[in-house]
Amino acid sequence: MRASAFRFELHNVDRGCAARRGTFHTPHGPVEMPAFMPVGTQGAVKGVTVDQLRHTGAQMMLANTYHLTLRPGESIVEKLGGLHAFSGWPGPILTDSGGFQLYSLAQMTKVSEAGAVFRSHIDGRSLELSPERAVAIQEALASDVAMVLDHVVSLPAAEDVVADAMQRTVRWARRARDSARRADQALFGIVQGGLDPELRAECAAALTQLDFSGYAIGGLSVGESPAEMYAVLDVTAPLLPADRPRYLMGVGTPTDLLEAVYRGVDLFDCVMPTRNGRNAMAFTDAGGLRMRNLSLAEDKRPLEEGCPCPACRHSRGYLRHLFMAREMLGPILLSIHNLTYYQRLLAEARAAIGRGEFVPFRQRKLAGWRTAAARADRAGP
Ligand SMILES: [Zn+2]
Repeated sequence: MRASAFRFELHNVDRGCAARRGTFHTPHGPVEMPAFMPVGTQGAVKGVTVDQLRHTGAQMMLANTYHLTLRPGESIVEKLGGLHAFSGWPGPILTDSGGFQLYSLAQMTKVSEAGAVFRSHIDGRSLELSPERAVAIQEALASDVAMVLDHVVSLPAAEDVVADAMQRTVRWARRARDSARRADQALFGIVQGGLDPELRAECAAALTQLDFSGYAIGGLSVGESPAEMYAVLDVTAPLLPADRPRYLMGVGTPTDLLEAVYRGVDLFDCVMPTRNGRNAMAFTDAGGLRMRNLSLAEDKRPLEEGCPCPACRHSRGYLRHLFMAREMLGPILLSIHNLTYYQRLLAEARAAIGRGEFVPFRQRKLAGWRTAAARADRAGP
């Protein structure tokens, strides 16, 4: 099943690696890839208005099915005109399926072949999420891209547990595909299989047969090391169809993004820019800045020279003061800066791939972050 309103246009593959430059066309506009989606768990990116979000360079937003179906409920979102009208975000929106909560809220979940039963973290009410129900909820939410319900397990896990979850994910993906009705909504399959190259390959082959509009690599960033994650990308990304977008779910640090782009991934989401922003950590080309650090008290420089975001109109000393005084503007400005940092990083990556120079670009960025990390280690805690 491929929704015809969607098309992935591959412009070029970098000459030195698998990095891809493409455009994903959706009913709410194009997404230039590789791209990063800010996370709007509750239909809002925490602390940031949609106009501010647009100015960070964001093209596509992620919203969370599990949270929105518990509160306010998908029928209310539908009555208020669907997620675009509800949130005020005019660009493309992707919704996850709730599968990740099988992992993150596992002590409250029972999984069977029919689906999963959650206990609400809000009021204890139980909620059934089958592959068909996850599609129906996302159709009511009216996102541009819906994700199939998958079975995520935490790593490390026994081989048979990982294999069972992968095979269930494939069966659920078929049921999701067969129940999807909206022509204006694309459905992405999710490759599972833990750290096992053979299970990943088997899953990728089975899902490709089902002909999804895009493919996600799921079940990563769940306790494995970065090297293990990159090894999974090395074996999985080349097995996915070249003419569909590839989405690495829930990842990651700036280093993770460049390592995944290098291996042929096109799309990302992560709470890190906003969560770290609320926790007084700013991303820069010279590594992370801890804004409560005394060394910034009289620092007149912006967070990052040349950054066009509203936080960078101020000095580091002023931003530090906002955090020390618990002024709400501090977390807001830092969230906007971090989102802008991620968007500029991906925009630079796209330009570098366009020139066929992603390999030296990646080397330069990684070297800057590594030097900063080494400096921080020498300085001590
Ligand atoms: Zn900035």
